[in-house]
Amino acid sequence: MKNIILTADRPTGKLHIGHYVGSLRERVKLQQEGNFDKFFIMIADAQALTDNSGNPQKVRDNVLEVMLDYLSIGLDPKKITFCIQSQITALPEMTEFFMNLVTLPRLLRNPTVKSEVAMRGFDKVGMPVGFATYPISQAADITAFKANIIPVGEDQEPMLEQTREIVRSFNRTYNTDTLVECKAVLPENEASFRLPGTDGNAKMSKSIGNCIYLSDEPDVLKKKVNSIVTTPRKLEEPGVIENNVLFIYLKALCKDEHFAKYYPEFANLNELEVAYQKGGLGDGKIKQFLYNVLMDIFTPIRERRKVLQTQIAEIIEILKQGTEVANQTANQTLLEMKQAMGIDYFSDDTFKNEQIEKFSNKQ
Ligand code: ATP
Ligand code: MG
Repeated sequence: MKNIILTADRPTGKLHIGHYVGSLRERVKLQQEGNFDKFFIMIADAQALTDNSGNPQKVRDNVLEVMLDYLSIGLDPKKITFCIQSQITALPEMTEFFMNLVTLPRLLRNPTVKSEVAMRGFDKVGMPVGFATYPISQAADITAFKANIIPVGEDQEPMLEQTREIVRSFNRTYNTDTLVECKAVLPENEASFRLPGTDGNAKMSKSIGNCIYLSDEPDVLKKKVNSIVTTPRKLEEPGVIENNVLFIYLKALCKDEHFAKYYPEFANLNELEVAYQKGGLGDGKIKQFLYNVLMDIFTPIRERRKVLQTQIAEIIEILKQGTEVANQTANQTLLEMKQAMGIDYFSDDTFKNEQIEKFSNKQ
């Protein structure tokens, strides 16, 4: 079987450190390992419109922001096909056919969708049908490319389960092996599965606005780190590690070498945790260390982004060419699907000959 990697991000804002630890870092690793036949990254603008229909300018403006973030972390257009979802016309067609294979109760049982509905207040004002069905359109995004490897954060697992169900149902119903089942590649480190927001919310998310962005300048970064919500306590009291956002960030991001560089009193995170739990170590010190770690990782990325910002025309060309390639791949899968369903009327003479034969027998 071929290894085809696909991931997508919604252009609803710049990418943040939750994306970095949850998915982007894994993509860079997969790219370096080179164990794939094709690698697609999609900017999911159509999905972004499912909950931003009144704000298309936001979506339009963030397409390049997301693309700059990709390139600045080292994702390489020579190895990866970058494409824009709304320009791949086979996807909504595939979605339409998949909709017949999913029941409404099954669709709405999705725990990620449920929490997103509550977060956006759709439970009070009514949910757009397009938002309710986005997991089905996401199944089209994945299956159009026959992708089997999906490097994503934990919130995407219910989407991939839904996709696998659609694949099985389609292949069984139409007696075919056209569609391919996918699996998530989750981050190695559990703290990265779903990074919390700086406000302590369970998930850092562009739509909540509790993010540290990859491109945040040092002064902004400093302010955001200092604003991270922690439990107030007296200095001598023992610190609590559990659900402590500072320590979750450190677990997701810091390496032993960061201690050698910025906090030589400790050899590694484990030692710091032990000292913190004993008491006497204030959150200010932890925040200072976290800031240094973030600066260490993201300064080169931020600097590369500034250079890339002078190459916008070339970057748009990369997206345009990648989208053409993606269209060819998705059109081929759609044709195979239509053949399996018996609705490829004009792709050759089979339908014509069969119908002529049928009606000639009736005379
Ligand atoms: P939005 O609020 O618009 O949904 P988002 O911040 O959730 O934006 P997405 O574009 O929906 O970002 O997600 C892109 C990818 O990043 C997905 O693979 C998702 O699992 C991962 N991801 C997003 N937020 C986090 C997070 N806080 N921790 C780990 N992974 C994350
Ligand atoms: Mg999201």
